[in-house]
Amino acid sequence: MTTAVAAPLYAFHNGEFVEAAAVRLPLSTQALHYGTGVFEGIRAYAQEGPAKLAVFRLREHLERLERSAGTLRIQLPLSTEELTEVVLDLLRRNNSGGDTYIRPLAYKLALEPGTPFGVRLSGVSAQFTVTTVRMGSYVPSEGLRCKVSTVRRVPSVSVPSGAKITGTYANNALAVEEAHAEGCDDALMLGLDGNLTEASTSNVFVVGRDGSVATPPVTADILPGITRATAIELFEREFGTAVEERPVAAAELAEAEEVFTTGTGVEICPVTSIDHRKVGTGRAGAVTSKLRDVYDEVVRGRRPDYASWLTPVHSI
Ligand code: PMP
Repeated sequence: MTTAVAAPLYAFHNGEFVEAAAVRLPLSTQALHYGTGVFEGIRAYAQEGPAKLAVFRLREHLERLERSAGTLRIQLPLSTEELTEVVLDLLRRNNSGGDTYIRPLAYKLALEPGTPFGVRLSGVSAQFTVTTVRMGSYVPSEGLRCKVSTVRRVPSVSVPSGAKITGTYANNALAVEEAHAEGCDDALMLGLDGNLTEASTSNVFVVGRDGSVATPPVTADILPGITRATAIELFEREFGTAVEERPVAAAELAEAEEVFTTGTGVEICPVTSIDHRKVGTGRAGAVTSKLRDVYDEVVRGRRPDYASWLTPVHSI
């Protein structure tokens, strides 16, 4: 009798493909001490076409990674084109025929010779790693119960919110922890001005009783999500709805007919209660459901008119 041995999972680490489980980082890794890393979260979706898998909006994610890295003065070791090939190669090696989450991470590693001890960006080397994990939808399909957090979003004047910086996520984790302690699934975070910014790992949209759709502008201390941009474009092209990018007051959340969040991880997800009070009917609303259906079709490659958003992974 032969026993099946699970194939090792590979990572792209420090310029080569290695077994993910074998990667070791020194305890002195600077990003571990100071939160000086940047990352991306990208999804690849199983397809019915000749390519069994395709990555959604890969270019946009890699371009944001490069911009985030620039904020922390990290030079990525590869161009966007080369990174694209690395991601596709990694998916093939990990034989990811099913839905997969891709996590590139660029992080400060070690003080260069002559750099004195201390918190800094210059004079510190960087390293780059990409890992993948099989992952389907993970938010409750019936929607999220949210809490308006007492933890305010770190303002852009302190840490640029447009950059996806690891250290910033201590802010989000504190907000999530508070939400969980109060029996909720996620936190809605306000900015210092009291207006809505975003949820812990997603952007927020509010549908008014008149059917208007609004979301905080990129100047509202948010991470300008790629799913947010996708949702805005789908609203325009599919439903002829112009999404208003404008400040959203916290009070509007209580009045809204529907609230939903958008993000690579959460995809399009209805918010069914806020601070234990129902949003609308307390179930996914019509606008959210319509958007979610189109989004699912698009990411699964069933809408040829959006094929340019998908990078097929051939020969898995
Ligand atoms: N805001 C935060 C804080 C996030 O972590 C994410 C997830 N990357 C988003 C918004 C949504 O961004 P995207 O749609 O690009 O995944």
